[in-house]
Amino acid sequence: MHSMKNYFLLFAALYLTACTNSNTTGIATKKTASAPGKDSTAVDTTSYANQKPADAATIMARPQVPILCYHHIRELQMPARASSGYEVTPASFKAQMKILADSGYHSVLPDQLYNYLVYGAPLPPKPFMITFDDTDEEQFSIAKPEMDKYNFKAVYFIMTISINRPRYMTKEQIRQLSDEGHVIASHTWRHDRVDKYLTTPHIDRDSKKTIDNDWDLQLVDTRKKLEEISGKEIHYFAYPFGIWSKAGIPEIRKRGFKLAFQLSTKRDPEEPLYTVRRMIVSPTWSAEGMLRVMKSTFGKE
Ligand SMILES: [Zn+2]
Repeated sequence: MHSMKNYFLLFAALYLTACTNSNTTGIATKKTASAPGKDSTAVDTTSYANQKPADAATIMARPQVPILCYHHIRELQMPARASSGYEVTPASFKAQMKILADSGYHSVLPDQLYNYLVYGAPLPPKPFMITFDDTDEEQFSIAKPEMDKYNFKAVYFIMTISINRPRYMTKEQIRQLSDEGHVIASHTWRHDRVDKYLTTPHIDRDSKKTIDNDWDLQLVDTRKKLEEISGKEIHYFAYPFGIWSKAGIPEIRKRGFKLAFQLSTKRDPEEPLYTVRRMIVSPTWSAEGMLRVMKSTFGKE
């Protein structure tokens, strides 16, 4: 037994050395070498499997990574003050990506955030995260080309009911995002609030089928679909409307999700991984204003 263990440790050490000394992913280095965000998506291949995960208090004490949340990237349907608050114009989005790159920010992805929060893994300087909710087509056609200029990578929280519908992304677009290093994640099937989910068999109001419980319908079935489309495992989840409930967190955890993203309410000090905060970018903000709010909301860089 003893020698087996030593052999394993030796193997693990060699494996770690090999992985940390070379960038075998290719994802981050394919783009132009001069892009400001060139290292932002370098995948940390360190294995944290044998490390002890941090407790909730340690996770809460780590500086938060600013996380931006976008919905529609389009011309405002009404004057900004009367807007739903879920719109950012293409020009604003363009200016926001530029100021972030010019200011030296690096986009990070959920695996990096998870390893940082749980194992204290290093992040690039000035880390931030870009997230999109609700599957809108312009998140692909307008937002992606702007992010491509700086090699920023984002997280797309997809509600699977909308895939292939008019004004939403197609399967092929989602696949392309995944292939290009963006992260596909779950935003449920039908965007129902998680605090209303039933955990006993009932007839679904749309499909009229009897289902065992809403958690499986909204999280497990959608994950399977997103894994088929993206060709990658799905580990991350965003609450519809940002609404989370303490009772729901064990349901999400036991279904294998590693982080769950809300909007702007306080994190739960006992469950920081399932109450990760984000900030909706307002239609009225200038690019400079957005940076100021980002810093004040999530603390000093
Ligand atoms: Zn949503």
